Amino acid sequence: MKLSDEVMEIKLAGGNVYLICGKKNILIDTGIPGQSARLLRELNNVLSANGNHLDAIFLTHHDVDHVGNLVSVQQTHPARAYIHPEDLPFASGSKHRPGVKRLVELVLRPNVSTNLSAFCADCDSYDLIRIAAPGHTPGHTIFQYRDFLFVGDLFKTKNGKPIPMGRAMDWNDREMAKSLGLVLSMDVRWLCPAHGEPLLYTKTVQDELERVGNEYATR
Ligand SMILES: [Zn+2]
Repeated sequence: MKLSDEVMEIKLAGGNVYLICGKKNILIDTGIPGQSARLLRELNNVLSANGNHLDAIFLTHHDVDHVGNLVSVQQTHPARAYIHPEDLPFASGSKHRPGVKRLVELVLRPNVSTNLSAFCADCDSYDLIRIAAPGHTPGHTIFQYRDFLFVGDLFKTKNGKPIPMGRAMDWNDREMAKSLGLVLSMDVRWLCPAHGEPLLYTKTVQDELERVGNEYATR
């Protein structure tokens, strides 16, 4: 679904990824393993009208449902991928994911990319603001592009409302609450989660987000 002339939501089974076609073409996250045919079809369609070149892939965090098609995308579009340094060891296979995520990793066996780096000075050449938003994972990062905020798994949405992530998948609820607090003060028009529909950032949504933050702070 096109959200603007430059930003597109690509719906996959199990979550959304987003494609920005501005001065540079940037993919945010890559979805759960097994979705590469669908993702590449959508990606190739859009990119063929935008210079056919993917410039970079930015990952919100290391979870399998966000890095799952990275290798397949890079086989067709050899763009460098970037992730927060705290999440890099999990995404690059040098550390196992903790807790229940270890089981998800064992079952889904995501391929590991060799074209993946920690955020670095190179990332500053993209029109994307990186905002550390730890909590779901230690290195969870959200990205702002103009009036769009890509929130990864800071919260999800259902029936037009933000709702909390499931507790079992969160690394640290206090950190989640603090990170959500950052969003409350941000001046953006669109909130784009990985799970659920993108939302226009109205006052009602802001109030709901405050409730989500309180739930993280107290659970
Ligand atoms: Zn997720």
